[in-house]
Amino acid sequence: MLEKEQEFDVEKVIEKFEALTKDAENVQKETLRKILEDNASAEYLQNLGLHGRTDQESFKACVPLVTHKDLEPFMQRIIDDGDASSLLTGKPITTMSLSSGTTQGKPKFIPWNDELFDTTVQIYQTSFAFRNKDFPIKDGKVLNFIYSSKQFITKGGLIAGTATTNLFRDPRYKSSMKAIQSHCSSPYEVIFGSDFDQSLYCHLLCGLIFREEIQWVGSTFAHSIVHAFRFFEQAWEELCTDIREGVLTSRITDPSIRAAIAKLLKPDPEEADLIHKKCVGLSNWYGLIPELFPDAKYVYGIMTGSMEPYLKKLRHYAGKLPLVTADYGSSEGWIAANVNPKIPPESATYAVLPQIGYYEFIPLTRMETTEEDPAMFCKDPQPVGLTEVKVGEEYEIVITNPAGLYRYRLGDVVKVMGFHNSTPELKFVRRSSLLLTVNIDKNTEKDLQIVVEEAGKLLGEEKVEVVEFTSHVELSKEPGHYVIFWEISGEASEQVLTQCCNCLDKSFVDAGYVSARKVQWIGQLELRVVRRGTFQKILNHFLELGGAVSQYKTPRCIGPANMRVLQILNDNVVNNYFSTAFN
Ligand code: AMP
Repeated sequence: MLEKEQEFDVEKVIEKFEALTKDAENVQKETLRKILEDNASAEYLQNLGLHGRTDQESFKACVPLVTHKDLEPFMQRIIDDGDASSLLTGKPITTMSLSSGTTQGKPKFIPWNDELFDTTVQIYQTSFAFRNKDFPIKDGKVLNFIYSSKQFITKGGLIAGTATTNLFRDPRYKSSMKAIQSHCSSPYEVIFGSDFDQSLYCHLLCGLIFREEIQWVGSTFAHSIVHAFRFFEQAWEELCTDIREGVLTSRITDPSIRAAIAKLLKPDPEEADLIHKKCVGLSNWYGLIPELFPDAKYVYGIMTGSMEPYLKKLRHYAGKLPLVTADYGSSEGWIAANVNPKIPPESATYAVLPQIGYYEFIPLTRMETTEEDPAMFCKDPQPVGLTEVKVGEEYEIVITNPAGLYRYRLGDVVKVMGFHNSTPELKFVRRSSLLLTVNIDKNTEKDLQIVVEEAGKLLGEEKVEVVEFTSHVELSKEPGHYVIFWEISGEASEQVLTQCCNCLDKSFVDAGYVSARKVQWIGQLELRVVRRGTFQKILNHFLELGGAVSQYKTPRCIGPANMRVLQILNDNVVNNYFSTAFN
């Protein structure tokens, strides 16, 4: 029997999930009770007058809904002074997570503790059990493009790093994950390498060394998978040379990575020739992943929400291999697992695990939002419980976790698509704060994605594609207008780019936008084409701020908090076009 089957009982995990989701209402009550009991002594809860009560009614009556901004003074105290007085949790916090911060422009600090580690293991096990039922894997290896950023010590003596870094660096990570994720083809030195490009190169090299054993290829977010194979297109000959000669290229300078790779790399001219032949034989890299990794069963990573624009390219590399979206969560805590892995990412839903957090849902319709902050805040939000949500409705998600966040507005909008037993199956809709608006118009991240896809089709005729995109609302001149930035994969004619610009403008269907454009309350949409590599510079900028590639999401709308990113974009504009669609 295989080692993995001895260590991990798929049926048992599924049975447990079924039992918990059949009793979601009680499980939620119990989860809240446990969180409040464990943290009854926290200063935050004491000051709100909860006095050790653990029932839902008292909790909702005493504890207000909060955003990260409300909690910043608490986070700052923990970071600066340490957490000896147990501010948010019963046990003092010793580690902080840094969220990717690509929405707000800067990373946010969020407490991390052992309980969050446990919930991570639970969700990984659950989705793995369902995945393995549909796509069983052998006891081989996986090519997982994961990267740990550095941890650092805060003024108050706490360890801080991205949530994925805290996870990868947890001493229990290796053993907990071994049973469910197979062995990563890359040694730990590659994951923990000091330089992202060097780690990426070596992930690919290790994948090639073990290519016949690879069972799946993935990353935390789809973006990193696409990025890796775009990089492969540039580096494949160098990789072949390394395999042929058994010597690692001099571009890798990190001594720990060099030492680790030296143990794996042996001269293998035959294999190098074979890989070379495979690459040359592909048409425009279609089906690259299964060609290189013949035993891979699927491609795995978060593929919904802001990752959807990468699906086309990912499918191209994946050929006939299924794309399986990973789970739904955040630095603030996990939420839901993909328990229907056969469903393509475009229609994927996530089933909430009722035992890993306490969840509330603010009903959201665009009509209810206020003028000041149109995306985010209903005037008087009245959240409903996990089992009270209605199919077809959209909600903003509120999370209470075991690491000191109580009734915390995560800022994500989800739609309830159905129920798995009595727990909802959610479709991720969008980040609620990302919005293009000049006056009466409201366009979300999703709306932007749709228009970019539509206009991108015109480029297809010239065999060029949109590599990355983002947007900005230009209000410095009256009337304000939308600016869309594109990085494209090659040269496109002026004529086609002008058509693309008009198409972007025409494809927004929001009635506010269309009517305001007709009367010129909103100015001509502007398409700014940026130099190749501009979005890589933006990624590097976030890495400098302490972000990790594993959690990176391209910001789709650049607001005032992200002026540095806007500057990078503007510095790299090669051409701009104004729409004449409404002239
Ligand atoms: P971070 O805290 O940096 O890891 O970012 C968390 C955010 O990533 C969430 O709040 C979501 O907006 C997004 N996210 C995480 N998982 C998914 C998913 N499965 N589908 C879509 N978006 C996701």
